[in-house]
Amino acid sequence: MSSRPQEFTGWGRTTRSRALLVHADSEGVVRRMMHRPMAHGLIARGLGRSYGDAAANADGIVLAPVAPDAGVELDPARGVVTATAGTSLGRLVRYTLPRGFTLPVLPGTAQVTLGGAIAADVHGKNHVGAGSFGRWVEGLDLVDGAGAARRLGPGEDPELFWATVGGMGLTGIVTRATIRLLPVATSRMRVVTRRVDDFDELLARMATEPGPAYRVAWVDCLAPTGYRAALEEADHAGIDDLPAAERRDPLGVRTRRVLPAPPVPISPLGPRSIRLFNALRYARTGGIQLRAADAFFHPLDAVSGWNRLYGRGGLLQYQYAVPDSAADLLRASIDRLRAAGTPPLLAVLKRMGAATPGPLSFPIAGWSLALDLSPAGGRPDRILDELDREVVAAGGRIYLAKDSRTGPETLSAMYPRIPEWRRARACLDPDGRFRSDLGRRTGLC
Ligand SMILES: Cc1cc2nc3c(=O)[nH]c(=O)nc-3n(C[C@H](O)[C@H](O)[C@H](O)COP(=O)(O)OP(=O)(O)OC[C@H]3O[C@@H](n4cnc5c(N)ncnc54)[C@H](O)[C@@H]3O)c2cc1C
Repeated sequence: MSSRPQEFTGWGRTTRSRALLVHADSEGVVRRMMHRPMAHGLIARGLGRSYGDAAANADGIVLAPVAPDAGVELDPARGVVTATAGTSLGRLVRYTLPRGFTLPVLPGTAQVTLGGAIAADVHGKNHVGAGSFGRWVEGLDLVDGAGAARRLGPGEDPELFWATVGGMGLTGIVTRATIRLLPVATSRMRVVTRRVDDFDELLARMATEPGPAYRVAWVDCLAPTGYRAALEEADHAGIDDLPAAERRDPLGVRTRRVLPAPPVPISPLGPRSIRLFNALRYARTGGIQLRAADAFFHPLDAVSGWNRLYGRGGLLQYQYAVPDSAADLLRASIDRLRAAGTPPLLAVLKRMGAATPGPLSFPIAGWSLALDLSPAGGRPDRILDELDREVVAAGGRIYLAKDSRTGPETLSAMYPRIPEWRRARACLDPDGRFRSDLGRRTGLC
């Protein structure tokens, strides 16, 4: 175990705080930690891919990572994989894919730990069919606030399990988990892309069922007029989808070339450069392609540390989910930010299916819209506060893994089952040892 003071920011780099970073490489170390006096509590940190302050803990302890890469055990007969919480989803998929399995839920970056995926109950581009990550967790090992190791699953202690899934690390430290996998015949995706220039048409197309397994739309909010979106629809490719030369090694996984983001004193990413990027992306849209799974699921991972390109002002992401009855809000929110002169640099629209039972899990049936905002041109706080109110009125919520600005009242209105979550947390952590900047800001701890 090693420890040192360090400054922590989320992936968006809009929040900063200092804490003692402790590396714990075994469950025993984590358990012993719980018997140490700690004035400001402790929070687990994975790979720091949450945008805000979820994995930071001012003046307290940040515990990371929990046994990274300490071995991955695949049981092909049962189609399950067991790994330590610090293992990245990218590593898990690189291990399972050549063996004919993949993770059923993958977020937009593979640089996410198993612990972080459970704590945020992450969702992918296939939420309608697959649900969120928690639905595929067969069981997890958790160190609670008293230093006891517990095995939680949806069948045993379901309240404690579902409070941990989506619980943003505030119920304990996940040390290990077993996940059910999806069998696949190839390591490639068959992707159909199309341009859609009308917002209503986009919604109608995305809501069509039955659809492909994966669907996502990248909306260009900086287009000179109206709306244009690149709609991507994909399924896992079958052997017959592969060209003859590739059928000899259908599950082959190539190592992807990753470019480092160049060190820059001033952010090169602003409306002008992003307008160009969006226009190029739109121009390339159209047709059917075979893509390697990582290129389809995690396009942004091709440039490591791209968040630094936004400079010191960082990148504010605002992601909300609303039911179908509030579909009008999707376009209205983009319009309002555009009219105020703070257009989202990019908007990602996903169709969402039924929620998992987690009281703090983000996804609900309907729509999710993620808006990338660069605070360099002025933070649109007033508009986001208004949007918060409309999201609440519509029965929707914002995503805690992306949040860095919401307060307790708004959060309680968005997540009415917080009292139920608190009861489960009180069982797991009666002395309130698990604390984070996000938890204090939102009143969760
Ligand atoms: C480019 C990009 C794309 C993304 N796309 C998506 C997407 O499509 N869908 C989606 O749902 N999310 C998405 N995210 C968000 C990301 O999946 C989540 O924020 C995820 O939780 C990050 O995992 P992490 O390992 O980096 O955890 P961190 O960011 O380090 O921590 C996140 C939370 O997990 C908790 N935690 C971490 N490890 C443990 C542990 N061992 N035990 C208990 N709690 C723990 C932390 O306390 C914290 O509350 C994206 C993020 C980025 C940067």
